[in-house]
Amino acid sequence: MSDIIHLLPDSVANQIAAGEVIQRPASVLKELVENSIDAGATFIQILIKDAGRTLIQVVDNGKGMSETDARMAFERHATSKIKNADDLFSLRTMGFRGEALASIAAVAQVELRTRRAEDELGVLVEIAGTRVFKQESVQCDLGTSFQVKNLFFNVPARRRFLKSDNVEKSHILTEFYRIALVNTSVAFSFFDGDEEIFQLPASNNKIRIENIFGKSAKKRWQQQLLSIETSTNLVSIFGYVGKPEYAQKSATQYFFVNGRYMRHPYFHKAVLLAYNQMIQASESPNYFIYFDVDPQTIDVNIHPTKTEIKFENEQAIWSILTAAVKEALGKFNVIPSIDFDQ
Ligand code: ADP
Ligand code: MG
Repeated sequence: MSDIIHLLPDSVANQIAAGEVIQRPASVLKELVENSIDAGATFIQILIKDAGRTLIQVVDNGKGMSETDARMAFERHATSKIKNADDLFSLRTMGFRGEALASIAAVAQVELRTRRAEDELGVLVEIAGTRVFKQESVQCDLGTSFQVKNLFFNVPARRRFLKSDNVEKSHILTEFYRIALVNTSVAFSFFDGDEEIFQLPASNNKIRIENIFGKSAKKRWQQQLLSIETSTNLVSIFGYVGKPEYAQKSATQYFFVNGRYMRHPYFHKAVLLAYNQMIQASESPNYFIYFDVDPQTIDVNIHPTKTEIKFENEQAIWSILTAAVKEALGKFNVIPSIDFDQ
């Protein structure tokens, strides 16, 4: 019998890896916009067509790439953001795995145009299913433009798995909010075909919240948000929590740490605890809470989408968070109360 084990060709390995990182159009949007943020962009323009099925375009005014880097960017585990394993624990960038572009190029047709300030000409790279079709010098604006066309053109099973346009679009918006709510000094424009969905100027957190969610008038963000702020040697917490009377069944709730959206059921409970007695059990408060910690004290690298984050000082932060929210609610709650627990 001859040996039977062999290494998979890159195209196959990339397609398998893509399954984890790129599940739907929204994942492409997330990865491209995060790259633009990492590139220092101050203005990011997004255009989608057919809920991202036929086109996801992200144009930024960030630092751009050299010709070699523009080609290298599509290799798996190719990144400019970390050099060694230690760097994983001092992350200040959204990306670091060097997987996104390789994954996207494995399952879509990609056109990249990019130019750095020091280069007169930029470069155009066309790549699809990991095959490079074109690489040439072109005139282009400073920064980077990605067009991702016909996602899953070569993976019919994945294409069929996509949901209706409305569902895919709502996934795209979810990813967009998670980035736009925390990168408030970056301006964004967002078009769905010819329709302008958002035109967000650079601003602060509160105005960004209103600009994104203000359309639903009944939430009255301006009136309902109370600011929270606290700073210790373990963590700085900043943000807004909704007044108890605006609590609802499906509330708007966001946690961020070091500029990154995160899911954190445990900290969610800490917030709820602060509302104890003030809201009904079936309801939940709105909140937008931003944590800043030493990157050494968190682990972001638990899952490819990086939304689950492990904190070293979870219990202590839990208490600090509850206290901060209580304080905000207490300041607002002017009815005098007597504490019999002393
Ligand atoms: P990661 O973000 O984890 O490094 P990616 O596959 O998303 O991996 O990107 C690979 C590399 O391509 C990045 O490290 C960066 O150097 C470069 N790159 C990607 N997008 C941009 C962009 N919009 N502007 C400048 N460089 C970019
Ligand atoms: Mg990236």
